[in-house]
Amino acid sequence: MNAGDLSSLVVAVDGTSGSGKSSTCRAVAERLGLRYLDTGAMYRAVAWWMLQHDVNIYDIHEVTAHADGPRLESGTDPRRPTITLDGVDVSAEIRSDAVNAAVSPVSTVPAVRARLVDQQREIIGDGGIVVEGRDIGSVVWPAAGLKVFLTADPDARAARRAAEAGTTDVTATQESLLNRDRIDSGRAVAPLTMADGAVHIDTTELTLEEVVDVVVGLATAPAEA
Ligand code: C5P
Repeated sequence: MNAGDLSSLVVAVDGTSGSGKSSTCRAVAERLGLRYLDTGAMYRAVAWWMLQHDVNIYDIHEVTAHADGPRLESGTDPRRPTITLDGVDVSAEIRSDAVNAAVSPVSTVPAVRARLVDQQREIIGDGGIVVEGRDIGSVVWPAAGLKVFLTADPDARAARRAAEAGTTDVTATQESLLNRDRIDSGRAVAPLTMADGAVHIDTTELTLEEVVDVVVGLATAPAEA
């Protein structure tokens, strides 16, 4: 693949919670000079806004009625990704335990997904971007030039996430991750699934650098004749 192709390339990276998507995608985007979009942060921001506005996140009608509530903006610089709600940066707030628990129920609601998927497609636009989520290769951008599906053993995922969050409660972290996976995989609309044509990478035994090298190699490999 030549440099011209990279400027319009879309790399879709899906996978389970804590499988290393964010770190991998940011590093790949930096190495390739591409933009970066964290769609999970968009769902988290909507969930956080609903909690702030006392929306009952388990009531589909209430969530639907508020799906268009906040103005949401995602910055796509991989060195400094931002997420703002009505102009206020909420990057830190959306990583709280309360949002971890609320985001998957909110993400099952079709009106929320429709709104965010529209926005994600607009941002992807002409490409040149690495996009991470759960349904990027299957729903948001099935025509992506490269689709990757990342997984890792639950123990490895929980240990990594707990270390990132600076907590020693690996068991609670693992429960939270597995609970999100259960809801994300079981929902009716756009469930977490490996898209057709995706390359599966199990990151359990790999370092971040090794995973990044594999993805960069796939993105820059000459297309098969
Ligand atoms: O990627 P992250 O773990 O931050 O995603 C948080 C949650 O957002 C996921 O557990 C899932 O419920 C939801 N999500 C989604 N579709 C995406 C990205 C995230 O439903 N494309």
